[in-house]
Amino acid sequence: EQLYEKGLEKTNKGFGARLNAFFAKFRTVDEDFFDDLEDLLIESDVGYETAEQLTDELREEAKLQNAKSRDDLKKVIVEKLVDLYDQGGNSEDEKLIYHPDDKPNVYLFVGVNGAGKTTTIGKLAKRFKDEGKSVILAAADTFRAGAVEQLVEWGKRVDVPVVTGKAQADPASVVYDATERAINEKADYLLVDTAGRLQNKKNLMAELEKIQRTIKKLLPKQPTETLLVLDGSTGQNALLQAKDFDKTTKLTGLVLTKLDGSSKGGVVLAIRNEMNLPVKLVGLGEKAEDLADFDAANYAIGLFH
Ligand code: GDP
Repeated sequence: EQLYEKGLEKTNKGFGARLNAFFAKFRTVDEDFFDDLEDLLIESDVGYETAEQLTDELREEAKLQNAKSRDDLKKVIVEKLVDLYDQGGNSEDEKLIYHPDDKPNVYLFVGVNGAGKTTTIGKLAKRFKDEGKSVILAAADTFRAGAVEQLVEWGKRVDVPVVTGKAQADPASVVYDATERAINEKADYLLVDTAGRLQNKKNLMAELEKIQRTIKKLLPKQPTETLLVLDGSTGQNALLQAKDFDKTTKLTGLVLTKLDGSSKGGVVLAIRNEMNLPVKLVGLGEKAEDLADFDAANYAIGLFH
């Protein structure tokens, strides 16, 4: 939790800092208050649609609760943020899925180059390994120079095997070998790294489809998780990326990286609201331990400090 707060400190410079500055000059609740709040949400990458909806709900709720003071309004905002994100804190879908009786649990990682796929896989491999689980990594990003070596490096660091192919090998063939191995060894997890070149989107999407087909043929089931890794500072473009990848790969959740950087943080709300996709993990740095579960209540409360 401490790590989480430390990492989010900088996010707070975006969305949180704006909220705090906004409340620092709070005088009274009037129409201007809500107009300004809506602008703030849009500037924080919450997106126009979600910002408008959220502001309407806040206006209504503030009236209902007869919220007048600064603290009253902060409370209403936190409630509504959690509500929007988490259906009032009752949502369970932020947890990573694990089926103990249906091994291997395959996690497919997708996302554009540089988003943080390889790093997230390394971090997660360490977490699972520390939990005493067996993990295999598949280096199916055979396109980006250095991607395979980078994953192999992580494998050494956290002591888990990495399945690789020849240079420029068909990524699906790497996934085939890795899945077979994971089945034979009854591994708890198989984590699959994929390419993220957007220069040729059609090609990439066909490649991801083929990888999914390969997994389904061997197991036979869909990946347990198909996670889109997003650079947290991408802003509204993150929503477009999510829609793009979801079309082909049917995402089960998001990993939001680099929240220790200049992320404005608001896009999380837009993706949840418009696509109903939960954030499952957040990246808070480059080291193996800089990975945390996402927690909507912590996130909302953490915005005010
Ligand atoms: P990929 O192309 O999607 O596999 O992205 P990489 O895993 O290679 O990450 C791209 C760069 O972002 C690397 O330099 C990583 O060290 C860095 N990175 C990944 N996740 C985080 C994070 O949560 N915080 C920070 N500060 N850097 C990160």
